[in-house]
Amino acid sequence: MPDLYPWLEPLRDTVAAALQQGRLPHALLLTGQPGSGKTAFSNYVAQLLLCQQPAAAQSPCGSCPGCIQFAAGGHPDYFYVTHAVDDKTGKVSREIKVDQIRALAGKLVMSSHHGGYQVAILNPAEAMNKNAANSLLKTLEEPSDNTVLVLVSACPARLPATVRSRCQQLKLEIPERQLALEWLQGQGCNEAEAQTCLQLAHGAPLEALRLAQSGTVEARREHFGALVGILERRVSPLTVAQGWSKDEELQAIHWMREWLMDLIRIRMAGRAGQIRSADLQDGLVTLAGRLDQRVVFELLERINRMLRLTAGTLNRQLLTEDILLAWAAQR
Ligand SMILES: [Zn+2]
Repeated sequence: MPDLYPWLEPLRDTVAAALQQGRLPHALLLTGQPGSGKTAFSNYVAQLLLCQQPAAAQSPCGSCPGCIQFAAGGHPDYFYVTHAVDDKTGKVSREIKVDQIRALAGKLVMSSHHGGYQVAILNPAEAMNKNAANSLLKTLEEPSDNTVLVLVSACPARLPATVRSRCQQLKLEIPERQLALEWLQGQGCNEAEAQTCLQLAHGAPLEALRLAQSGTVEARREHFGALVGILERRVSPLTVAQGWSKDEELQAIHWMREWLMDLIRIRMAGRAGQIRSADLQDGLVTLAGRLDQRVVFELLERINRMLRLTAGTLNRQLLTEDILLAWAAQR
């Protein structure tokens, strides 16, 4: 029996009760911010439906043929649809394509192998292109018996209203802060790290854990230190720009943008109560006292412009240099 994240238990009970009472809708739309546990929950629902002898009503037994096949990734009545992969190049598409939805529909009209439910998960559902979504509508309008579709989406607003309206939406809420902190510490985070990462993840525990495990807190501290180093003439802005622009996602620039907004918040509120980057509070308060507010606004504008412009590697490095030279000019 798979362990479910503790903050998902109330929602699990809701789904299990609906299933027991025979009123589980044939299409669910699981929503919630990244890192709230949508994928894990959709798996759980799938296994619950495919279990041939649910021991406690709300949990799959973990030992029947259905559960074992599901755990091994080979249950014949379970279908998982995600971003298309090009057969020749192996490249992952940004989209779920119409052929995938047609293939799924073709399987769902057949009767189930084990005589029970057929379960399909679409994750992330908003990746469906227009044709794929249109094709799915037919399946949603004329569902086969004992078929459950689970659409998983962090941004349901990007799904067509026609698709949304045919699903019952279940929203995964982020847990109470204390529960999330305890869970993170149970995963090996220390208390300070758990607090910082949870804040950076806007309360979503799995995202917080990912941040903790990927060394994000240290990386932020290093990047922030580089900015201070530039102001103190210890580090060359061009050297820093070279390092920062290697990252295609430009994470450092996104962080710098957050920090500039925190500098504005500190100046406006006159205290550090409402800042986002609590992990760097002391450094930010010091900087806020040092920098001209007008200049901070200008830098912010420059970054916003850059983030709209970046494309190729060369462009990225030039634009990063441009920002850090402007930053360096403040010293
Ligand atoms: Zn089972």
